[in-house]
Amino acid sequence: VPVLANIGLLATCAAPGGQAELHPVERAAVAFTGGVVRWAGRERELPATFDAEERLDAGGRLVVPGLVDCHTHVLFGGWRADELERRLRGESYLEIARAGGGIAATVAATAALSDDALVARARGFLGEMARLGVTTVEAKSGYGLDLDAELRLLRLQRRLAGEAPLRVVSTLLAHVVPPGWRERRAEYVARFSDELVPRVAREGLASACDVYVDEGAFGADEARRILGAARAAGLRVKLHADQHGDRGGAALAAELLATSADHLEHVSAAGIAALARSGTVAVSLPLAALYLDAPPAPARRLVDAGVPVAVATDFNPGTAPSLHLPLALLLACTRGRLLPAEALKGATLVAARALGLDGVAGSIEPGKSADLAVLDAPSPLHWLYHFGPNDCAMTVAGGRVVWRREAPP
Ligand SMILES: [Zn+2]
Repeated sequence: VPVLANIGLLATCAAPGGQAELHPVERAAVAFTGGVVRWAGRERELPATFDAEERLDAGGRLVVPGLVDCHTHVLFGGWRADELERRLRGESYLEIARAGGGIAATVAATAALSDDALVARARGFLGEMARLGVTTVEAKSGYGLDLDAELRLLRLQRRLAGEAPLRVVSTLLAHVVPPGWRERRAEYVARFSDELVPRVAREGLASACDVYVDEGAFGADEARRILGAARAAGLRVKLHADQHGDRGGAALAAELLATSADHLEHVSAAGIAALARSGTVAVSLPLAALYLDAPPAPARRLVDAGVPVAVATDFNPGTAPSLHLPLALLLACTRGRLLPAEALKGATLVAARALGLDGVAGSIEPGKSADLAVLDAPSPLHWLYHFGPNDCAMTVAGGRVVWRREAPP
């Protein structure tokens, strides 16, 4: 039984209380075996049964649950750095997409890479995330578009989940209607709903289905069709909602009892109230707002209305090409007005809830996965306030040390 000892402050992020309640324990230790936490509490109260066990030294640092990045598009070919410069020169996201850039460019670059190359790239990104303290990552398909290409990506995500040192959770994403189907939208939506969704569920290739609802993507009725099929097939339901304008996405997410509504940069007051009633998790993606110079999701108003707010990267080659989850947390504070404690719970327990994993991950409690991040800070507040180049000294995922910084000279 390994014991992580000499913890200055343990932020367990257990469920009871509001989003700012982290249930901290000073001078703590965590014992785990078989990848599962067995005991967590004050180190001097550590049961004698754990006395002679293998010790890991937290060095008096802050220990938090392994971070959960609950919204990424991590499996893709190519980059789109040119689009950052085009936006800086005044083109809009939609103008670039209409000119053949955007999602279409990544679909082509993804199709051009071999299976091995795609998985190797994504594995590299996951390794970088692990060094930041991340232990669970959601991966969305959506850069295939054609049904066979979506199946290919989901199979590669399953392979990635088997090879990666982190937990990878797969989501089927209805991203946009592929160019060859523009005149036959209804047929594409029908085949996505009636053929792809049941097959993905049957083969266990995803645990959730997500629809991008926006101008240039899918409308509300199309989302109802796809997500109705997803619910019937036993998949969780998620939406990319109200990113570029208020299109009633939050209310639609509430109507469909979605597990999460993601983006919400332009959510209306009525949409916030609907989310509060349905218990849907709002996922704030402040890196996308940063890169697009858009307003951030109103995280403060959401939390104050009683909506749990998760924070994720939206890592993708277009609108959020950084995988830095701690930076997203800092932005959720400075731009979304979350407190650092709220942001931390938003990237641990609340993010796990957005994936339906809050019974397994997201907090440090007996019976949960031994996912831990050791951070160079005395508190969550100080962690995001000082924001070092990489404050993560050690990452434990499923009881295994997957990252450990060498001691400085
Ligand atoms: Zn996204």
